[in-house]
Amino acid sequence: MLNVPPQAFPASGSQQRVAVGGRTKVPLKPGRSLMDWIRLTKSGKDLTGLKGRLIEVTEDELAKHNKKEDCWICIVLESCIPFPAGLVYNVTPYMEYHPGGEDELMKAAGTDGTDLFDQVHRWVNYESMLKECLVGRMAFKPIAAPKDISSTLPEEKKQLNGMLSERKVLGASARDTTPSYDWFQTDDMITVVIYTKQKGMNAELVIVDCQDKRLRGEIILDDYSYLVEVDLDYEVEDDFAVNIAEKIGKVEIILKKKDHSQWKVLGLPLEGHNTLIRRKERGLFYRKCKLVSKTEVTHDTRLFCFMLPKSTHLQVPIGQHVYLKQIIAGTEVVKPYTPLLPFLPLDFKEPFCQDGAHIYLMIKIYSCGLFTQALDHLQIGDDISVSNPEGNFEKSQVEALEDLFLLAAGTGFTPMVKLLNFALTKVDCLRTVKLIFFNKKEDDILWRNQLEQLALRDERFEVQFILSEPKEDWMDKRGKISSALLSECMKRSKKDSKVLICICGPAPFTEQGLQYLKDLGYSQEEIHAFTA
Ligand code: FAD
Ligand code: NAD
Repeated sequence: MLNVPPQAFPASGSQQRVAVGGRTKVPLKPGRSLMDWIRLTKSGKDLTGLKGRLIEVTEDELAKHNKKEDCWICIVLESCIPFPAGLVYNVTPYMEYHPGGEDELMKAAGTDGTDLFDQVHRWVNYESMLKECLVGRMAFKPIAAPKDISSTLPEEKKQLNGMLSERKVLGASARDTTPSYDWFQTDDMITVVIYTKQKGMNAELVIVDCQDKRLRGEIILDDYSYLVEVDLDYEVEDDFAVNIAEKIGKVEIILKKKDHSQWKVLGLPLEGHNTLIRRKERGLFYRKCKLVSKTEVTHDTRLFCFMLPKSTHLQVPIGQHVYLKQIIAGTEVVKPYTPLLPFLPLDFKEPFCQDGAHIYLMIKIYSCGLFTQALDHLQIGDDISVSNPEGNFEKSQVEALEDLFLLAAGTGFTPMVKLLNFALTKVDCLRTVKLIFFNKKEDDILWRNQLEQLALRDERFEVQFILSEPKEDWMDKRGKISSALLSECMKRSKKDSKVLICICGPAPFTEQGLQYLKDLGYSQEEIHAFTA
């Protein structure tokens, strides 16, 4: 179990860069925010130096543009696959706006920058953000097709009720079992069966969307994603059922036919159909969700409730986040948020069971925040695009725990909510759960009342509030995260108890916290940092 990426522990003396979750961010100069970039792209300035002309770029030509004042980068967009010709951008005007910093961007000068952009924030839609910097396409040169190892598999190609099933297993040789699928029909129903061969299959690992005849069923298998994606032969009703046989790993998607037509084939396979690839390589999939309520939590933080469409089956696992996508000033902007429960349950018998139809997000609205300002202007009934979940927290990290410490700062509290509920209801050997909650002022504390109620109801749970900008009359702890505060506030229930410390908050908070925990002698296995 490796929860904390090695980069999360900063080298001494690195004050400028913030490296959390393997990504590096540098503070941008004033006037260089994403909003400023969007403004520049709308200004009508010629950002490529080619006056709107698009050209074919050879590898040799690309390589020549490798200086800060003349920097071209090729990015292979997912939508280009399986013909990854790559789009070439002049990123010189973007240099100062790049969250990873100019030096990072220069590492890809004159070459392929796809990985580099993905590392800084893979959710960004470059096509939209850099569209004014597009120089052209890479000149086509025969490229070896992505290695398809299907020929080495026992079943090579097989005809499934008329549909050609060619299994693509890209980079998935690490998995020793490959899923497969089949389908059958009655007069009223179509049942798609996915044989994952994975024990312990559960509803959180199955994400299904079925809209406008497009069926997309994604199965999460550890670091891999298996996809069934077809344009169905005929229309089906919006709602469907998902049955999971956990022990044998069989997943059934039961669709209702709109009429009684007999289907000859399931449908036309779409791009990612019947592929097993690494999760990171599978593009994020979004569906539109409706805002059904918005309630005040504090002076600047609201609880948003979004309703999933009937045609979606999606449950966000503990500690994972989703991405919200909005078009702001003509540009697609995407930000991550961590779903939580509508309230802090005070009953400890069973984990609070959500209805599966709603997603709750607690979001702080920043007065100059690009995304949160737009969110705050959403009206009840408005739509927003919500992605599939991502994140690397595993429930197994909590099993057999004796002590759980949660270090949260500001909205870094959000991943702690489901975790807290799960730990208090499901982990029998747990002796203490302590939330150490860092905020600026008293008014900023999220769900204070509920947390205090919980502490009264369950003697295993304790909450400690620490304010960095308290009023004079604040009687409790004050300050920012420090080694001294942590060693004072975190006491194991017994020597060598099995402990987990989860940390989440602003990047410098998390980075410093990880360093202090390391200094205090906690091992990497005992720490989990929530990051993107
Ligand atoms: P931006 O336009 O990016 O920033 C504008 C200004 O707002 C900044 O200059 C600064 O003054 C202020 N500001 C923005 N972000 C911060 C900050 N982090 N700290 C201090 N000042 C800031 N946020 C939530 O509210 N709830 C969540 O559940 C949540 N989950 C997240 C999960 C992950 C994995 C990550 C990485 C982040 C999460 N965030 C969450 C933060 C969220 O993704 C956005 O960064 C945040 O909403 C600000 O977006 P914005 O576009 O409004 O601000
Ligand atoms: P905030 O600015 O109100 O600060 C809350 C507390 O964090 C402060 O009182 C202080 O104790 C600490 N803090 C802030 N800046 C610090 C610094 N530079 N060094 C040390 N400590 C510092 O916090 P906020 O506006 O609510 O921001 C919450 C943050 O949590 C955001 O950056 C958000 O991106 C992050 N977040 C991450 C995830 C995740 O990765 N899964 C989930 C939710 C929120």
